[in-house]
Amino acid sequence: MTLHIDPKHLPEAQSGPRRYQMLIDGKWTDGEVGLEGERVSPGHGVLVSRYAFGSEGDVNRAAAAARRAFHRGPWPRMKAADRAAVLLKTADLIDARREEIARLDALESGKPIAQARGEVAGAADIWRYAASLARTLHGESYANLGDSMLGVVLREPIGVVSIITPWNFPFLIVAQKLPFALAAGCTAIVKPSEMTSASTVVLGELLMEAGLPEGVCNIVLGTGPEVGAHMVTHPSVDMVTFTGSTRVGKATMQAASATLKKVAMELGGKNAQVVFPDADLEAAVDAAVFGAFFNAGECCNAGSRLIVHKAVAADFLAAFEKRAAKVRVGDPLDDATKVGAIITPEHLKKIENAVVDASADGASVAIGGAGLASGAGQYMAPTVVTGVKPEMAIARDEVFGPVLSVMEFERVEEAIRLVDTTDYGLSAGVWSKDIDTAVTVARAARTGTVWVNTFMDGYPELPFGGMKQSGVGRELGKGAVEDFTESKTIQFHRGPRTS
Ligand code: NAD
Repeated sequence: MTLHIDPKHLPEAQSGPRRYQMLIDGKWTDGEVGLEGERVSPGHGVLVSRYAFGSEGDVNRAAAAARRAFHRGPWPRMKAADRAAVLLKTADLIDARREEIARLDALESGKPIAQARGEVAGAADIWRYAASLARTLHGESYANLGDSMLGVVLREPIGVVSIITPWNFPFLIVAQKLPFALAAGCTAIVKPSEMTSASTVVLGELLMEAGLPEGVCNIVLGTGPEVGAHMVTHPSVDMVTFTGSTRVGKATMQAASATLKKVAMELGGKNAQVVFPDADLEAAVDAAVFGAFFNAGECCNAGSRLIVHKAVAADFLAAFEKRAAKVRVGDPLDDATKVGAIITPEHLKKIENAVVDASADGASVAIGGAGLASGAGQYMAPTVVTGVKPEMAIARDEVFGPVLSVMEFERVEEAIRLVDTTDYGLSAGVWSKDIDTAVTVARAARTGTVWVNTFMDGYPELPFGGMKQSGVGRELGKGAVEDFTESKTIQFHRGPRTS
């Protein structure tokens, strides 16, 4: 496997780290105790960002600002059409700064720049979708309760929302939460990952430019324990929406229960693609390669398990390996790159160890298996592990790297059982031209999404989220704004009241 690193991109990566501040109550600020963070680019090994990091006091300041803006500010009280106008303006500003934002995400996360551009464009689209939902959010009325009673159910904004995001899709994931919270009339405290905070700070600049009132969106930078943990327990916060690992998600839910906050969780995945012999095998091979190696496998939706029918397994794998050999791995800033860098050297080690453990458990490494020497930055070779058994760690645990585990099946029931053998339930893919087979597997899979004859497509209109330990609740879809509301029932009585 050749690693494509073009030295001409290095000076650009080194063009000097910008220092990013936090946004609290409409002002750019450093942390109260002067904590600092920095980010070394995973693709080049150079310092690309410095950050002012916050701590508990900054969360308190942000929560107070968000509370004030919620109780006394104009945002929750203005017409939905006016809130929608701010969201639409934000989307236009995102489009205008797309290249800059994509570059920040590519530099900080190691993802390919071409892919990052797509994510930023996708994020703008989601902001526009949220604007459309702002104007259609409505409650219910009941005139069927007898002549003396009219029941009205309002949807009111839930209040202050804590938004915590991971490093793998920095600009896209905040777009799956913040615009919907804002559309509902909520105020927010946002914490991006401490490794990929830059694009969220730029989003804060855009929101101010778009006319979002002060204190409505506060951005606090820093680590989980220093910042995130306080956002989850703060008494002024009404809801926590978290995307990240299942481990931290569980701890977050537990911490949020002390004050009985509403929680929404988007967590890990161990997603399977099931290939039947009657599938369009060329398309399935392409999707299997894409599913396994997109975003270097650092993706909750990664198709990290391939469950292929015995009758076609050998041919399928041969075609897969041929196709995988063509995947260009290398410099995130190179337009041609398909698989970029791994987030940290420690994470690369974890991925390599998972493959070593799989071998020790009796699986075979068909391609890849180790990091690729780069001189600067860290990269992992696209890897395929065959002979995997469902009880092996490689078949159950989220590796979060470009590692595909292959299992074979003969009967539909066996395939369904394999899909369901992990604690996760985020997504699955089914490849078959037979409608009965496709429907049978799609209905049986205990996952929040099933793709039939495609993989990992997403639309703002379609709800996304996980069953089992992949999450709680759904993002996107027509209910996405309603999720940030409380219902309030008002009963109007007329005439004499009798008990
Ligand atoms: P992580 O759980 O380590 O961190 C996520 C966020 O939580 C970060 O901002 C982090 O600073 C913060 N955090 C850490 N400890 C905290 C604490 N005690 N209290 C509050 N916040 C805390 O996850 P990660 O490594 O950044 O991201 C990778 C994980 O995210 C993977 O498991 C992946 O599957 C998952 N993910 C899920 C989805 C989805 O939609 N289901 C999408 C993307 C990523």
